Amino acid sequence: MRRLACIAALLRQALPGEYPQPKELQLVNNWAIIGQQRAVQQMQLAVARETVPHALLITGPDNIGKRTFALKLAQAMHCTAERAEQRPCNHCSACLRMNSGNYPDLRIITPEEGKRGVRIPQIRELIHFLTLTPAESQYKIGIITTFEHIVPNAAHALLKTLEEPPPYAHLILLATTAELLLPTIVSRSFQIPLRPLSRIEIATGLVEQRGIPTKKAQRLARLSGGRVDWAIRAFQQPEFLQRQLETMQLLFKVLHSDLPARFDIAQELARDDRRVRETLDHWQTGWRDVLLLQTENGSQITHLEDQAALEKIAAEVTLTATTQILHHLTKAQDDLYRNANTRLLVESLFLNLPRMAQD
Ligand SMILES: [Zn+2]
Repeated sequence: MRRLACIAALLRQALPGEYPQPKELQLVNNWAIIGQQRAVQQMQLAVARETVPHALLITGPDNIGKRTFALKLAQAMHCTAERAEQRPCNHCSACLRMNSGNYPDLRIITPEEGKRGVRIPQIRELIHFLTLTPAESQYKIGIITTFEHIVPNAAHALLKTLEEPPPYAHLILLATTAELLLPTIVSRSFQIPLRPLSRIEIATGLVEQRGIPTKKAQRLARLSGGRVDWAIRAFQQPEFLQRQLETMQLLFKVLHSDLPARFDIAQELARDDRRVRETLDHWQTGWRDVLLLQTENGSQITHLEDQAALEKIAAEVTLTATTQILHHLTKAQDDLYRNANTRLLVESLFLNLPRMAQD
């Protein structure tokens, strides 16, 4: 244990906040990640120096780009380009197979269909995978998504691997926030927090790196709430964008419904955790818009398409009520991450939303 704490401290020293580029390394900006430059540069250097920590914890809100970042890092680690600072090269066999999701020394663990978090058999299988010698690369990499929802026993099962990993084994944990995780997991991991980006950063990135037309990029950046992967997904999957936009219509419907009707909507919505997460996320931005309208900052709102309806809410609801609703929404999101009963959580939130008169 003491040895581990020592290693963790050394790692933190080895990977401090600022990273002067050594003269012999000419890092190439080829990760194609929008924003998060500091984190990218930090990991590029670690890859080049072969000092990537054995346990990484990437945190940030849903759709901020944690998985994209983890995959890019794994690709850089597996890449066989001669010059380490140019990895991932996107040309070598390892890079190409990583791009097609088919590489033997990488395993991505996500919750099974219908489950919130990763379960113990999946973790056992992953530990077994990490223990075996790499097939091609010098590393074995396991990525675990939605780590905040991992079944507690499954998290405990990982501790030994985190404490004494085989020299080639690397674990990358993805979670919305470190606060919800076992302290023993957090203390053994090197944290990489990904933060929301500005609208301009996202719009510019979408145009320059993805070739998305400017107007469309600006709209997606506005709706994204600072989350790059949200914007990219909304561009690639029109049905995802449509689903997100419909959450605002659902909000207006709830506000105009009486209690029994609200409970019916809650029951329907609570059937799908993912939909609840997306809905709460979007409602948060919607109510932030109401707050902006109430404080004469309407030019900055996210949901321009729904401006008329939001203005109506802003006029009918008091500023105090708006801030309380934002507070309830944050709490509901936290509770959802803490594995609360989804239906009770949605019903309780609906009870706290004001009733608006029909048009
Ligand atoms: Zn490569």
